Amino acid sequence: MAPAFSGQFGPDVSEEQIKSALLMLGFYDVVEVALGADMITVKEANEFLKRMQRGDEFMITSCCCPPFVRLAKGFRPKIAGMVSDSVSPMIAVARFIKAEDDNAKVVFIGPCIAKKTEAKLPELKDAVDCVLTFEELEAIFEAYKLEPGKIDVEMPLNDASHDGRIYAHTGGVSKAIAASIKSLNPGLDVKIRHGNGIKECRQILDAIEDGRLEANFVEGMACIGGCVGGPGKLVNHEVGAAAVDEFAKKSKVKEAISNEAANILVEKYKEKVELDSPKM
Ligand code: SF4
Repeated sequence: MAPAFSGQFGPDVSEEQIKSALLMLGFYDVVEVALGADMITVKEANEFLKRMQRGDEFMITSCCCPPFVRLAKGFRPKIAGMVSDSVSPMIAVARFIKAEDDNAKVVFIGPCIAKKTEAKLPELKDAVDCVLTFEELEAIFEAYKLEPGKIDVEMPLNDASHDGRIYAHTGGVSKAIAASIKSLNPGLDVKIRHGNGIKECRQILDAIEDGRLEANFVEGMACIGGCVGGPGKLVNHEVGAAAVDEFAKKSKVKEAISNEAANILVEKYKEKVELDSPKM
């Protein structure tokens, strides 16, 4: 489940009830994509430190929004090299699921249509077998006459940190990565800019190309509000963002870098799971 799933199926439907509903549909397990966000946060925080040490002016996060990455890497040769090479949290978490179980078939469920294309890219298609939007999942619940809010059993969901969960809204990615950078190197100044919607993303990329941007870390979200504003969402992006923040507060782990389960998985499968995306 993408981090934006909180609050999508109604204000009284808990994340744990959604997990229960998915298990009732026949899924073997449910994993928060925010776990992959924790892994990529730590990876990109370390990459930022290396880039600043070698004298780079900027790092542009690449980690979750395919249209923004395409815009920056595919059409802006002057700044393409500033974009991190990390795969998205969706790809990361799917690869770890398959590293744990060779027979797993992975379905990503989120608000994003662009993820359907990302999952089919030749260099990434090993990871995710199917992408559904929240709208499509709602239709499946309706077809099975399954009402998650009426399910008594709430299956626990404890995969991710607070900071991994807030990836779902604009500003969350940079906040998460900046917190991990501060833990690794408290003295380093992280000046963040984020683009909220494709128009702002374009303006920020223009400003970098023209040498006008006062920042050293840039995040871009193609949808207004971030993924909570994605085309396959079910609720207004402000309502979705508030629900995401509430669920994030319930995590026992604050920063991505402190998510021991994520750190153990990354170490365990460091030879097997590729977290760098191929060059465009
Ligand atoms: S911001 Fe929009 S386009 Fe980008 S990953 Fe999220 S839902 Fe997809």
